[in-house]
Amino acid sequence: EVRVRFAPSPTGPLHIGGVRTALFNYLFAKHHGGKFLLRIEDTDQNRYVPGAEDYIIESLKWLNILPDEGVGFGGTHASYRQSERKEIYAKYAQELIDSGSGYYAFDTAEELDKLRSEAESKGETFIYNSQNRNQLNNSLNLSKEEVQEKINAGVPYVIRFKIPENQTVLLDDLIRGKISIDSNTLDDKVLYKSDGMPTYHLANIVDDHLMEITHVIRGEEWLPSMALHELLYQAFGWTAPRFAHLPLILKPEGKGKLSKRDGDKHGFPVFPLEWMTAEGISKGYREEGYLSDAVVNMLALLGWNPGTEQEIFTMEELISNFSLEKVSKSGARFNPEKTIWFNHQYIQQKSAEEILPEYSKILAKAGIQADDTFNLNIIELLKERANFIQDIYTQGAFFYQSPENYDEKAVGKAWKEDTAGLLEEFSTELSSIQDFNHTTLHDQIQSFVQKKEIGFGKLMMPVRLALVGSLQGPDVPVIMEFLGKEEVLNRIKSIIA
Ligand code: GLU
Repeated sequence: EVRVRFAPSPTGPLHIGGVRTALFNYLFAKHHGGKFLLRIEDTDQNRYVPGAEDYIIESLKWLNILPDEGVGFGGTHASYRQSERKEIYAKYAQELIDSGSGYYAFDTAEELDKLRSEAESKGETFIYNSQNRNQLNNSLNLSKEEVQEKINAGVPYVIRFKIPENQTVLLDDLIRGKISIDSNTLDDKVLYKSDGMPTYHLANIVDDHLMEITHVIRGEEWLPSMALHELLYQAFGWTAPRFAHLPLILKPEGKGKLSKRDGDKHGFPVFPLEWMTAEGISKGYREEGYLSDAVVNMLALLGWNPGTEQEIFTMEELISNFSLEKVSKSGARFNPEKTIWFNHQYIQQKSAEEILPEYSKILAKAGIQADDTFNLNIIELLKERANFIQDIYTQGAFFYQSPENYDEKAVGKAWKEDTAGLLEEFSTELSSIQDFNHTTLHDQIQSFVQKKEIGFGKLMMPVRLALVGSLQGPDVPVIMEFLGKEEVLNRIKSIIA
């Protein structure tokens, strides 16, 4: 059975890169009839941000990327929160010590910094491995008793992984293919600290093994860790899962990795949900009025392509079409305009009834009450031009409230000396119409301008201005029918006054 996991660290809000990783894991799992897990990797206390875990869960729920197991979702391999699995990591750290694959190191941060800068001044990089571990302050150079004495005395230590010397590590990434790495270039990474906390590397490997993960699908930034992880699996005598490293998401300009700050700079969200800190609010797709299906569709195409021209995919279609073979190695450029385009497409697919609940919320926020049938008609009328549901309200607010002021430029264009008189005369004609619908109104307008021997715009512009407050909006006869006779006459009266 395929089992994959999304393993975020709760160090802040999940950005869209993280969401894309979750989505690809989800699609892969569902395509293979497998399981998708959510594991919270919260072993780094210094970077822990309260609220981030809830944020991750809420985001996945909003986007319908639902874990089968994990924090907040139950499952047979609990706990899925690493801070609750400390004893497990302690046990496996000890196992590495016992087998000789791990060793205690007592070097202080200052000592290591000194070694690093010394190497740097010679144009070299200091690597803690077979090259020099024999001269450093670790259990490989101390007697068993000395080591025990130090530990008993409370001298801070770390457990390092003993990277094998002169080994070619062969890797096979499902997206990047075969890679070989010279083990002498790898660091004896810290796996465990005397405060009882594992580092990411140990906890991640142990959990992937115990949670029976078959495929590790994650961002490209973890590719440099793959060799270490492979060696760790070997040291434990475990079969490693398959790995797939997803391409970077690039800035809209295409240069460099999309950063959290790019969003504020360009005014588009890089987070699924709004995130508030003391420094301010970062926009979220949900609060900005994006439909979750549109966001999912957009993210699916960041680095994956179906091999056809198709762009609009339901979740079901994504699941059946998804494969790692069609994930590219090269970075995927993020395109905020395209995201808006997707939202537009998804709004068009929805019926007025489906849009109504969200639309009603927007109206309620604006303090407007109107009956559902009227609202449904408005949605039907304006949906075609809307990129967001709130656009329907912004473009149609005049249906609910008569204009409070008139667009100055439009007044200059539409209002002439004889306009008031013309509108008065037109009003009189309107008041006698029995069947106040757009076809009748259209004919009425037609005959009125003919009779007066004036251009169409000479009448229509000021009427539109009276009804809308600007020169925008749908057909005037349609607007009139929506507003009804009384309201139309009132609005014309107001502009003349
Ligand atoms: N906790 C890591 C992260 O935040 C997980 C990386 C992995 O998937 O191995 O991205």
